Amino acid sequence: MKTFCGRANPTTGAMEWLEEDENYDYHQEIARSRYADMLHDKDRNTKYYQGIRAAVSRVKERGEKAIVLDIGTGTGLLSMMAASAGADFCYAIEVFKPMANAAVKIVEKNGFRDKIKVINKHSTEVTVGPDGDMQCRANILVTELFDTELIGEGALPTYEHAHKYLVQEGCEAVPHRATVYVQLVESKRMWSWNKLFPVHVEAEDGEKMIVSPSEMENCPGVPSVCDIQLNQMPSSDFTILSDVVTMFSVDFSKPVRSASTYYRVQLEPIKSGKAQIVLSWWDIDMDPSGMISCTMAPYWVKSTSAFQWRDHWMQCVYFLPNEEPVLQGEKVYLTACRDQYSVWYKLEKARGEEENKADVHVESPVCRCQAHLLWNRPRFGELNDQNRTQQYVKSLMKVLKTDSVCLCISDGSLLPVLAHYLGAKQVFTLENSALSCSVMEKCMHPARIDLYYPANHLEDKIKIIEARPELLTSSHLEDKKISVLVGEPFFTTSLLPWHNLYFWYARTAVTSHLTSNVTVLPQSASLHMMIVEFQDLWRIRSPCGTCEGFDVQTMDDMINNSLNFRESKEAEPHPLWEYPCKSLSDPQKVLTFDFRKTVPQHCLSTEGSVNLLRKGKSHGAVLWMEYHLAADISVNTGLMQISNEKGNCEWNPHCKQAVYFFSSVIESETLSDLPSAVTYAINFDTKTGEIAMDFKLL
Ligand code: SAH
Repeated sequence: MKTFCGRANPTTGAMEWLEEDENYDYHQEIARSRYADMLHDKDRNTKYYQGIRAAVSRVKERGEKAIVLDIGTGTGLLSMMAASAGADFCYAIEVFKPMANAAVKIVEKNGFRDKIKVINKHSTEVTVGPDGDMQCRANILVTELFDTELIGEGALPTYEHAHKYLVQEGCEAVPHRATVYVQLVESKRMWSWNKLFPVHVEAEDGEKMIVSPSEMENCPGVPSVCDIQLNQMPSSDFTILSDVVTMFSVDFSKPVRSASTYYRVQLEPIKSGKAQIVLSWWDIDMDPSGMISCTMAPYWVKSTSAFQWRDHWMQCVYFLPNEEPVLQGEKVYLTACRDQYSVWYKLEKARGEEENKADVHVESPVCRCQAHLLWNRPRFGELNDQNRTQQYVKSLMKVLKTDSVCLCISDGSLLPVLAHYLGAKQVFTLENSALSCSVMEKCMHPARIDLYYPANHLEDKIKIIEARPELLTSSHLEDKKISVLVGEPFFTTSLLPWHNLYFWYARTAVTSHLTSNVTVLPQSASLHMMIVEFQDLWRIRSPCGTCEGFDVQTMDDMINNSLNFRESKEAEPHPLWEYPCKSLSDPQKVLTFDFRKTVPQHCLSTEGSVNLLRKGKSHGAVLWMEYHLAADISVNTGLMQISNEKGNCEWNPHCKQAVYFFSSVIESETLSDLPSAVTYAINFDTKTGEIAMDFKLL
C-alpha cells in the first residue's frame, strides 16, 4: 500500500508530497534503532546471561518448572538465553511487528521453536489461561525496557501490569533491581544549554547588552531528558559539588507502582559553589545479591577496566529550575520527582525536616517562557557561545551603515538585536512560526526593568514579520528595500548541516525586495569533508552476526534492508563531540555556495580524491558547513581543530555533523589492504536541495 505524506523540504522550503511505502516509518525506525548497538553491548549481554542462568537455577532448585516471561523480546535474545539455561518454556512478547516477525525467524533458526512462543502484542494485551496467550503465569520475569533515564520507555507501567496479571507472586526477576545515582555539579558549559546568558555587545556608542527576559530566568524548562555521552565531558568543564548518592531504586521482583511520586535525599556539599546541574545514571543488578551488576557510571566514578562503550544507554543531565548557591558542609535536600515516564529535580536548603516534606509538588515542569520550546539544548549552547557571537558582531560592524535597512532570516536568532545595536537604521526579522515571533518579542521587551542593564526596548526599531519568504510583501517592509540581508543561518527544520542552505532559497525568494547592491551576510558557505576513523561510533553500523552464541544475522539483514530504503542510506547527523574519532585525511573544501547570487538552475557537483595520511580504518566521511560572514570572518559548524599528531579531532560542540559510513570497511574484519586514497563525487541538486554522495576507497 502507498500513502502520501506532506512535508516541507528542509533545504528548499518547498512543500512536497511524497509517496510513501506503508512500511516507510518502520524502516526508519529499524534503520535508526539501537537494536544493533544493544547486541554489540558485550557487558550487557554477558550479565543478562549470567543473571538469567542464576534465576533459572534458583527456580529449578526449588523443584519448580521454569516458566519465563520476556517482555520486549526484540530479536528473542533473552528468551534464547533462558531456553539455553534450561528454562522449560518462554513467552517472548514483542509489540513491534517487524521485530516480532524477526524474532520468530531467529528463534527458529537457533532451534528453539518448541521452547519459545513469540507473541506480537503489547504486554498489557497479553492474556493468561487455558485459551490465553500464556497457559499460566510465569515465575521468571526478564526484560530490557530501559532507556538512559531508566523509565522513559515505560518500564514502570509495564512491570506494574506484569506483576498484577502475568507473573506469580515471589517470581524471580532479571534484572532484579535498578538503582539511580545522582551527583550535584556546577557547570557553565552544561548550564548554557538551558539558560540564555547576557550577550555583551561593544557598539560604537558604548557597551550594550542583551538580557534574557525574567520569564526565561525562572522557567523550569522542558521535561524531556537530556542524555549525553558524559564520558566525553572533560573534568575541566564541571565542578563536583557533592558525592555520588543513591536517589532511588526499584525492585523488579516485587509489585511495582508506577504512579507519580518523589524521593528525597539529604546532601552535604563537599565544595561551595553554584548548584546548577544534577548528573544522573543508573545500574542494574541482575541477581538479588548484586554480584552481577551493569553500571552506566561515568569515568570519574568507575574504574576504566569496567568500561564498555554503548550508545543505547548513556547518562542524564538534569537542570535545576534555578541555580542555587551551596556551601561546603551546609546540608541541602535534593528531591527527584517522577511520573510514569520521566524524572526531574529540585534542590532546597535544609530547613526543619517536616517543613520540607510539606511542599513537594509532583507536577512535571512546563516551559513558561517558550524559549525552551523554540531552542533545544544545543541551540541554547550555540546562542551562548560568546566567541561565535563575536564573529557576527565583527562582521555586522563591517557591513552596517547608518542608513542600512536590514532583513534577518533565521529562526529565533539574536541577530536582529545585534544589527540594531550595531547601528542599522531599521531591522526586520522574518520568523517562520508564531512561537519564534513570541520568543523574539520577549527578547525585545524584557519584563524586568533593571537598574544596571537598560531594558532591551526595541519594539520600534525591530519589526517581527511572521511569513514565509516567498510571501513577503513590500507592505511588510513598509515599502523599504533591504540593503543588508543577514542570517546565521539557523533553521529549526535542519537535520543535516546543509539543510541550513534554506537561507539561500529564502534569499532567492526575497530578491525583489533587495537593493541592487545588497550585502548578504554570510556572503557564502562551503561544504567540507574529511575521512575519519571512529573510536566507537562505527559499532552502530556494524553487523552483529552472532551474539552470545546465537545467530542473529536475520537482524543484520533487516537493518540493511531498512538502511537501503531511500534517505536512510545517505549521511546521518551525529554530534561528533560525543563520538571521538581521528582524522585520516586533511579536511577538504568540496563545494561552495554563493549567497550573493540566487540559487542557480543547474546542479553543483564536484569530484576529486583525498589522500589518507594516517594509518587506520576509514570508517566514513564527515561533512560540515562553514559560513563566510564577511572577508576573513567565518563560523565553522564542524572541525574546530586536530588536537595532536595522532589526529584526534575536536568538533563544534553545538552542532551535528553529517556522517557517511563506508559500509564495506565497517563490515570487513581485517585491516589488510589499507586504502591510500578515497575518491568522491558529490552532487548538490539545486531543485531538490539534496546532496548525493559517492565514495570509493583506492
Ligand atoms: N530484549 C531484547 C530487546 C530489547 S529492546 C534485547 O535485550 O536485546 C526493547 C523492546 O521491547 C523493543 O523491541 C520494544 O518494541 C519492546 N517493548 C517495549 N515495551 C513493551 C511492552 N510493554 N510489550 C511488548 N513489547 C514491548
